[in-house]
Amino acid sequence: MIQDPLPRDMPPEEFRRAGHEVIDWIADYLSDPRRFGVLPGAEPGQLTDLLPPTAPEHGEPVERILEDFRKLILPHSTLWNHPLFFAYFSVSSSGPGILAETLSAALNMNGMLWKSSPAVTELEQVTLGWLREWLRLPESFFGIIHDTASLSTFHAILAARAFADPDMRERGSSPGFVLYTSGHSHSSVEKGALALGIGQRYVRKIPSDEAFRMRPEALAEAIAADRAAGLRPFCAVATVGTTSTTSVDPVPAIADICEKEDIWLHVDAAYGGHAAILPEYEHYLEGASRAHSLVINPHKWLFTPIDLSAFYIRYPEALRQALSLVPEYLRTPDDPRMVNYMDYGVALGRRFRALKLWFVMRYFGRDGIAALIRNHIRMARELARLIEADSRFELCAPAPMSLVCFRLRGPDEATRVLLEKLNQTGEVFFSHTALHGRFVMRWSIGNIHTTWEDIVRTWSLVQALAASA
Ligand code: PLP
Repeated sequence: MIQDPLPRDMPPEEFRRAGHEVIDWIADYLSDPRRFGVLPGAEPGQLTDLLPPTAPEHGEPVERILEDFRKLILPHSTLWNHPLFFAYFSVSSSGPGILAETLSAALNMNGMLWKSSPAVTELEQVTLGWLREWLRLPESFFGIIHDTASLSTFHAILAARAFADPDMRERGSSPGFVLYTSGHSHSSVEKGALALGIGQRYVRKIPSDEAFRMRPEALAEAIAADRAAGLRPFCAVATVGTTSTTSVDPVPAIADICEKEDIWLHVDAAYGGHAAILPEYEHYLEGASRAHSLVINPHKWLFTPIDLSAFYIRYPEALRQALSLVPEYLRTPDDPRMVNYMDYGVALGRRFRALKLWFVMRYFGRDGIAALIRNHIRMARELARLIEADSRFELCAPAPMSLVCFRLRGPDEATRVLLEKLNQTGEVFFSHTALHGRFVMRWSIGNIHTTWEDIVRTWSLVQALAASA
């Protein structure tokens, strides 16, 4: 016999109390994130040593869990949602996005089928339709939300190969399909090809010009050489906003080649695509409407909490034909108005990510988002001028968006030491890349709280530490 009282969920009053405490903590954090250091300076294993090796046998009060969040978790965290986070691509969570994530967790819906929660499916279609319009992409682009650009690009390559080799579903993959991308594309492109069994030897890294943009004539030559060798070129990936420098590949010229050669064109606009929301940077997505697929990550530059990647595909049927499997327990009536997203990807379960995008797009509006992005780009321009004016430093790449690549003149060691010293302060966080074989610092501006004063103060810190580097 089942005995009552069973341990059930947290009582509503306790939830309300703790919930208010959590929201208060978040509001305090967001009102003054600078009182926390961005980098924890933790040693590997340090947090693990502070935590019990086994899970609790008996439940604990939520107050104690919250206290340990503050005392243990926070001091070991790198704060990505911090105005002085300048590493990788600086990203933002935002008030409306945080609220939506909370609601999504409360409802705990799974949008594998339209029927499993109509709101999850339909809001995904609506918000991605809105974003598509902001980016001036064609209505024929079908939108799907994934967790990351890596997964979006994986599905692009998967669709491209299914398009080129429709029998693959039945027979399995065959060798000799060749993928083209630039040496500056994100590693997720090559990783997608690896995961799909394309084979590393069939991934061509096309050389770039002096501004780190793929050279279309080199792409055409590589395709011709592969055709002559009896191989099967099937997919090219161009990048709008490369990871190292935010360079923009010449998508229109690449699209010309792909059309002529009948090759799938995927555009990775994970970061840089957002700039095209601004009328003055519309040209960054020039030619993208001729692509077969495109990825853009609102969790990178659209003030949406990690994770949300928007994937657009012109021929969603390619995915359906490659992947759709409907066991009896997931069968629903055939109705073209009911999109079942499980048919278009590897994952069955899909969480309600569209809710946060909907909150963010509605709260800020296109003009609010454009103003925030415009300000980031303007700060990067001004920062590049400051760096240029100090003869000890050199800029290492054009800065078309909100990323500035720079180094100390002379041997790499000085820049390496400077980067280490900056990060050791814990107050700021920078990352690096290599350009033309030189060690280069990346200064990425993208957090919603970053101000021009933050940039100026940090630049003074960089200058001061450079004097002793
Ligand atoms: N594409 C580009 C251009 C990127 O810069 C990144 C990451 O920074 C990715 C793809 C991978 O993104 P994700 O972490 O969403 O897989």
